[in-house]
Amino acid sequence: MASKTQPVHLVWHRTELRTHDQPALHHAAQMAQEQNGVVVPVVVIDDHIFARPDLTPRRQAHFLENVRALRESYRALGADLVVRRGDPTAELARLADELARASCQVVGLHFICNYTPYAKERDARATQALQERGAQVHSYPGQYTHEPGEVQTNEGKRYGVFGAYRKKWATLPKPEIVEAPDKMAPLPGKIEVGDIPRVEPEIKLPEAGEAAALGRLEWFLKNGESTYERTRDEPGREDSTSRLSYYFNIGALSPRLALHRAQTEKWRAELTWWDFYADVLDRNPDSAKQEYREKWLGFPWRDGRDKDSKADLERWRSAETGYPLVDAGMRELNQTGFMQNRVRMVCASFLCKHLLIDWRVGEEIFRGLLLCGDRSQNVGNWQWVAGCGVDPSPYFRIFNPTSQGEKFDPHGDYVRRWLPELSDLPAKNIYEPWTMREKPKRYPAPMIELSAGRDRFAETAKTFLKDKSAGEDK
Ligand SMILES: Cc1cc2nc3c(=O)[nH]c(=O)nc-3n(C[C@H](O)[C@H](O)[C@H](O)COP(=O)(O)OP(=O)(O)OC[C@H]3O[C@@H](n4cnc5c(N)ncnc54)[C@H](O)[C@@H]3O)c2cc1C
Repeated sequence: MASKTQPVHLVWHRTELRTHDQPALHHAAQMAQEQNGVVVPVVVIDDHIFARPDLTPRRQAHFLENVRALRESYRALGADLVVRRGDPTAELARLADELARASCQVVGLHFICNYTPYAKERDARATQALQERGAQVHSYPGQYTHEPGEVQTNEGKRYGVFGAYRKKWATLPKPEIVEAPDKMAPLPGKIEVGDIPRVEPEIKLPEAGEAAALGRLEWFLKNGESTYERTRDEPGREDSTSRLSYYFNIGALSPRLALHRAQTEKWRAELTWWDFYADVLDRNPDSAKQEYREKWLGFPWRDGRDKDSKADLERWRSAETGYPLVDAGMRELNQTGFMQNRVRMVCASFLCKHLLIDWRVGEEIFRGLLLCGDRSQNVGNWQWVAGCGVDPSPYFRIFNPTSQGEKFDPHGDYVRRWLPELSDLPAKNIYEPWTMREKPKRYPAPMIELSAGRDRFAETAKTFLKDKSAGEDK
């Protein structure tokens, strides 16, 4: 009887929705071949994650459409993707039991490591449940080029400064890219593959799936990478950057493959941030919710909940600050789930510096609206802007939305694209519409004077940090 059971290797996809350079799939397929077994790929739509406020309809839909595309990738190889919904441990255990009833034995569970505290706890529970059913559990690197903890100083310490991290990162041998199997065996009969629910996003999503992601990578390498160093700060150009972040975020594109194909130092350096901020959050999980730098703990941010700061927050969120670059950025974000990097810095700085509103509030809003919303990357960048992060911009660096616009988008192309109500303004007035003799009718006056916002933040920070240092001296 025992000799008739077919060995099964489960490949559990979480945020690695691809078959290319997918070490869990690659190794599971090798083992299955050696053992005359079969690979069963599975996604569990995790109720805990889907209930989080940042998993907005657009982000749920983005994830689900990429799951649908992953199923197509597997079908093209001859297999299929099992999709379940609920608690991952319970669903994987249930699947193993179903397979056992179909004369199969799950001998392996394979997945790519994830590093958030929730993911670690989830994976430990799933590991135990599958081990109790006789499976061996294999976890692999693959979400990053160098996993959290891998890049260390010669003394075995983790880096606190990006420049030094990057230097060391660049010297380390890079992982091999692994192939997807050419073809796969069909799933064992009787296994219900499960439907993939549809969620209506309120925006048009980018094309889903690894084929689209790989296509976009090829397009960028051919048409964008060589000029990236110059264009990356030009929000007026629609293709000034790769726009691959929403594929990296759900793993439809392997960051290791992107790096392997990259030709320029500048773009390689940008890709390093993905690893760096994951490393920072992994070694300091508290920094997801509190300032990384101790001397900033307790900083008197406005919380966005009392009457005044709530009204200010609402104007920022709904793109009605009266500062065209900020409003254009927030419109782009609201309407597409993307925002150009330079504009992200300006919008974030406006919220936490000119409006003195807590970076956590902005971080949460961005995370829910960005299709690439990722806690480690988003927190790292918000804390950088606020001045309290691991390797931050100095607190007195306060982006001026007017001069940033004039410098990086002098003709106002970006503003014209997102704020059609300003599209007729001459370039010399487009960042200061209030200077027009005839003010644009459907555009608000500035909500705060820039110098007043800047001085309030600078004074608050100076006093707070001085008091903190005095406290430390006692
Ligand atoms: C306030 C703020 C919040 C941000 N939130 C996120 C987030 O939630 N998720 C996210 O992936 N990125 C975030 N970023 C970083 C960066 O803006 C985006 O990764 C980038 O704009 C995405 O566009 P792209 O794919 O065209 O990037 P490219 O310029 O083509 O760069 C290629 C890749 O390098 C990585 N990268 C580049 N710059 C950064 C950076 N500063 N920090 C981290 N990674 C970087 C990304 O993976 C990106 O896809 C944030 C930046 C700011 C200022």
